[in-house]
Amino acid sequence: MDILRHTLLWCSENKNLQNKVPKMKFVQKALKKFMPGEELADAITASKEFVSMGIPTVLTHLGEELKDLSEADDVTNHYLSIIDKIADEKLDIEISIKLTQLGFNLSEEKTFENFDKICERAEKLNNIVWIDMEGSRYTRKTINFYKKIKAKRKNTGICLQSYLFSSHQDLNDLLEVTPNVRLVKGAYNEPHDIALKDKFRVDENFLDLSRKMLIESNKNGNRMVFGTHDLKLVKAIKKEADLLNYPINNLEFHMLYGIKINAQKQLVKDGNKVRILISYGKSWYPWYMRRLAERPANVMFVMKNIFSK
Ligand SMILES: Cc1cc2nc3c(=O)[nH]c(=O)nc-3n(C[C@H](O)[C@H](O)[C@H](O)COP(=O)(O)OP(=O)(O)OC[C@H]3O[C@@H](n4cnc5c(N)ncnc54)[C@H](O)[C@@H]3O)c2cc1C
Repeated sequence: MDILRHTLLWCSENKNLQNKVPKMKFVQKALKKFMPGEELADAITASKEFVSMGIPTVLTHLGEELKDLSEADDVTNHYLSIIDKIADEKLDIEISIKLTQLGFNLSEEKTFENFDKICERAEKLNNIVWIDMEGSRYTRKTINFYKKIKAKRKNTGICLQSYLFSSHQDLNDLLEVTPNVRLVKGAYNEPHDIALKDKFRVDENFLDLSRKMLIESNKNGNRMVFGTHDLKLVKAIKKEADLLNYPINNLEFHMLYGIKINAQKQLVKDGNKVRILISYGKSWYPWYMRRLAERPANVMFVMKNIFSK
């Protein structure tokens, strides 16, 4: 299984496949499981359906590693337009952004300027703008970026990955700025000297970090979110929250569109907060490969679409 995961993650970074695979009809068909569509309107329609079930959403416009900094302004304007739409239609939707989609790989200064504009617009709605965490070559830079933006804007949150050896140190560092954190396991192909490879240890680390996050949130009221579909882990976090007298209606889980829908509804019934992250856009290839790598059965699902009408 590790070989399959490794191969899919390698595919996610392969430029040749990136040009070919998205054109394949059976892949496009299978993609629907994880993405309501390529357009913002598709993501908004899906959001409204979730909101009607008491589940608000987070939107991400897919794209990463800009080649040309001039594209960063278009991406920024797109996110600004989403915020305007959220305001006009009074929707409970947040946004989550990959910094390299704003040109972080090309200019940190320009990225800061654009991200700040997005936060400023969202601030008026009291709306948090989340920063996704990308591959490890960006971890330290992203944390430094977050500390800088958090000193200026309160309404921003950052993602941390429990598979990294550095995650406890990263969390301690972030605690200096009373961060809003979304904890996930991590989705990239990282080397052995940077990331834990054993699922048991990644999960154990997740739970240790969760405990620290809950204690911090109890003290300072900052938003601490757990982004996982691992129901064993969800149960363990709920137990931990109980032991720490953490308010049940503050305990927040985020999941991805199309995964563990019944569990999402059950968490809402239990009185927990749930948000669904919905991705959309035309640049879905690397993101989709990472989703396939998370669960080998997904590959079988794609293959079945070769034979279905
Ligand atoms: C809201 C949210 C935001 C995220 N943001 C980031 C980010 O910024 N950076 C980053 O590196 N990663 C991010 N991720 C991805 C994350 O790192 C994991 O790769 C992903 O969530 C799978 O891990 P898991 O915690 O669900 O546990 P796993 O142990 O991988 O999965 C637990 C169970 O969930 C189900 N499941 C998990 N993934 C899938 C899937 N793709 N398809 C079908 N079933 C599945 C399976 O039943 C599996 O047994 C995010 C995830 C979420 C939920």
